[in-house]
Amino acid sequence: MRHLILGSGIAGLQAARAIRSAQPEAAITMLGREPDPLYARPMISHLLEGSVQPSQLELGLPPEVRLISQDEAVAVDAADKTVATQQGRKLAYDRLLIATGADPRGIGAQNTDLENIHFMRTKVQVRDMLEALPGSRRALVLGGGLVGFKAAYGFLRQGLEVTMLIRSEYPLSQQVDPITGGLVRAKLQENGLDVLVGRDVARFEEDGSGRVRGAELTDGTVLDCDVAVVGKGVLPVTGFLQGSGVDVDLGVLVDEEMRTSARDVFAAGDVAEHFDLARDERWVNAIWPEAADQGRIAGLNMTGVPARYPGSLSRNTIRIFDLDLTTCGLVNPPADSGYEILREEDPGRGTYRRLVFLGDRLVGAACVNRIEHAGVLRSLIGSRTPVPCPREDLLRESVHPGGLFPFSR
Ligand SMILES: Cc1cc2nc3c(=O)[nH]c(=O)nc-3n(C[C@H](O)[C@H](O)[C@H](O)COP(=O)(O)OP(=O)(O)OC[C@H]3O[C@@H](n4cnc5c(N)ncnc54)[C@H](O)[C@@H]3O)c2cc1C
Repeated sequence: MRHLILGSGIAGLQAARAIRSAQPEAAITMLGREPDPLYARPMISHLLEGSVQPSQLELGLPPEVRLISQDEAVAVDAADKTVATQQGRKLAYDRLLIATGADPRGIGAQNTDLENIHFMRTKVQVRDMLEALPGSRRALVLGGGLVGFKAAYGFLRQGLEVTMLIRSEYPLSQQVDPITGGLVRAKLQENGLDVLVGRDVARFEEDGSGRVRGAELTDGTVLDCDVAVVGKGVLPVTGFLQGSGVDVDLGVLVDEEMRTSARDVFAAGDVAEHFDLARDERWVNAIWPEAADQGRIAGLNMTGVPARYPGSLSRNTIRIFDLDLTTCGLVNPPADSGYEILREEDPGRGTYRRLVFLGDRLVGAACVNRIEHAGVLRSLIGSRTPVPCPREDLLRESVHPGGLFPFSR
């Protein structure tokens, strides 16, 4: 059996591991666009900080996997069961996995091609940032999401002055509510980060030698900067699938075995669009644990070992200086849509908890500085079962997690 994996990220790696464990003799080929050996992508910001060496990020491959790097798939012929690559290869497969991940979203500003304006998705991009660092003093970070945070933190650790520019009214607006966002913003500012909200870059300005020297914002403000990072979210890499017969919405549509609409073609990771357990609809949750899980399940099904993926859940736990934040599910539901919200805030202690319910189910949670029982909240959201206790109990500090599950009472 010939397995072909497009993409050398965690979804591809987990698939390769699962295939190798189920089929020790199978031929596995992995095609990857990047020059580096496989690595832990979420940790590239630690390279920017200078707190790890590049080799510490490396992930090994299972035995006898043929890795073709620095080449990329440009077309899939699902009828002929072949993949054409940029460098003219034609790779045949019996089972194909699309695990091409996501690319950063571009922005509409003028002059984004100036030197020292970066995305932060790959090791190569972080290397470029580090090379330019000795000549940099003021960093501009576009976007108040995870990547924006990590870039800003890395620059601060390198001694740069940092401005974070957020189009919405508060950081992490895709994941949290305004109160949580306000607490995060205050923490960033308390630690020396200049945070500007409700604005975007209209155009970057050049220093005369092709390098960025500033940015004009949509409200006319002009900021100095000699390095900029764009962290405005990601989009699944699906362009090469046009005309392939593989159905794509925002991501590649998959069923619970991670099968696509084309025979013997599977998809997993940031590129895949599955079902979101909290939102009750198809969604792309571009996070590491889901990519890893989906890759493993796709790999098993590629070998004929049945495995089912129940659906994905947006979630994150992050420490922002000394503020601990954990979020899960749908924290910021649309207004007037039947969701009910419970919250508790203690400004003196800097704690806050917000719980979102739909009918008898918990569908979202955000906890600031009181992240105990976050795992319990997560499993309640993921299990999609009715909350087995008075809802207010989930706000309390004293509640015993065992009491939240009927079977453990
Ligand atoms: C700075 C940063 C911080 C992050 N922090 C977190 C975090 O704290 N928690 C969390 O859960 N997630 C985090 N993430 C997201 C996480 O890294 C991704 O969800 C995860 O890497 C997705 O894995 P993947 O294998 O689906 O895709 P990817 O890791 O994107 O791997 C896909 C690979 O396929 C390659 N490729 C693309 N197109 C082609 C093609 N046509 N042919 C061949 N190869 C191709 C790509 O170059 C890439 O190497 C972070 C991401 C970044 C960038």
